[in-house]
Amino acid sequence: MDRASLKETSRLVVKLGTGILTSRSKQIDPGQVEQLVAQVAAQRSAGREVIIVSSGAVGAGMGALGLAKRPTDLSDLQACAAVGQSRLMSTYSELFARHDLPVAQVLLTHDDLEHRDRHLNARNTLVSLLDKGVVPIVNENDAVSYTELKFGDNDWLAALVACLLPADLLVVLTTVDGLVENFGKKNPRTLPVVETIDANIRKLAGGTLSATAVGGMEAKLRAAGMTARTGIPMVIASGKKKRVLANIIGGRDEGTFFTPRPGRLKGHKRRIAFFHHPKGSLWVDNGARDALREKGKSLLPPGVARCNGDFAKGDVVRICDLNGTEFSRGISRFDADEIRTRTLKGIEIVHRNDLVIL
Ligand code: GLU
Repeated sequence: MDRASLKETSRLVVKLGTGILTSRSKQIDPGQVEQLVAQVAAQRSAGREVIIVSSGAVGAGMGALGLAKRPTDLSDLQACAAVGQSRLMSTYSELFARHDLPVAQVLLTHDDLEHRDRHLNARNTLVSLLDKGVVPIVNENDAVSYTELKFGDNDWLAALVACLLPADLLVVLTTVDGLVENFGKKNPRTLPVVETIDANIRKLAGGTLSATAVGGMEAKLRAAGMTARTGIPMVIASGKKKRVLANIIGGRDEGTFFTPRPGRLKGHKRRIAFFHHPKGSLWVDNGARDALREKGKSLLPPGVARCNGDFAKGDVVRICDLNGTEFSRGISRFDADEIRTRTLKGIEIVHRNDLVIL
């Protein structure tokens, strides 16, 4: 897939990072939000559906509460996000109203997308908002989510939302131009295209140094891995540029374009691959690894070398090689304890229909 095909985009998810929504003094930067809102409104006028995934709640809350540092105590952080989220929404609502566009706040926890019914519900709500001409503005429900419930970061959340709908394109707007080679050194260069996220590409990403933001480039690459596997193109670009969305959708060179892998994952497999926090893992021998990966087989008892964790029948588990490297995920047909007894014979532990090669 090349950039020219982005002209066909009819539904896109735009992720807006804290760094482009708030100023150095941790206040919402109205001028900056205004120009981003204008870009989204222009895409809406061109007939495209746009879903925003917005960070900035913690950042805006810090400004409102006069905090210089991101709180470390969980309830302080949640309080800060709750204050900031309402400020953020009132800014969006006012700025989109100037373009006659209503907005909706959609706050999600990981749990909401993990369970099948709630997953479908969240999807239906977003689609219904789009049908009504509303711009949904999604964030994590920071006020109630704690470690086990967390998405981790909003790059991942944005990729999940793109995958949930599904969308035709994910655009991650941040403070840098894309994935940059020689970042902070002589001759920096933004990579125009990434086809495979390998070790060399990962080396280019460092964590975040910002006081308000969470993810950094590593998180963006993780999100890009998900969208690529799902068959959705993704672009990382600078949210400070006034024509960035129009350029990306016009197929022009802007930021870094991550090409999707061929073969879109269907709904059931998308859920298995990305929407769960697996409770355990099955390490498999080389024969089983090749049978799953190259031949599309189911996982049978003799191939399982180790069973870790405490999962129940029906749970999603990681499937790893003998080095513990995860290469697949699937739904276990047995409890961990049953697998550990090693008495199962001739039956699939993970059926190929419930298994995804990552
Ligand atoms: N949900 C957090 C916020 O709104 C942001 C998390 C992230 O940026 O990754 O502040």
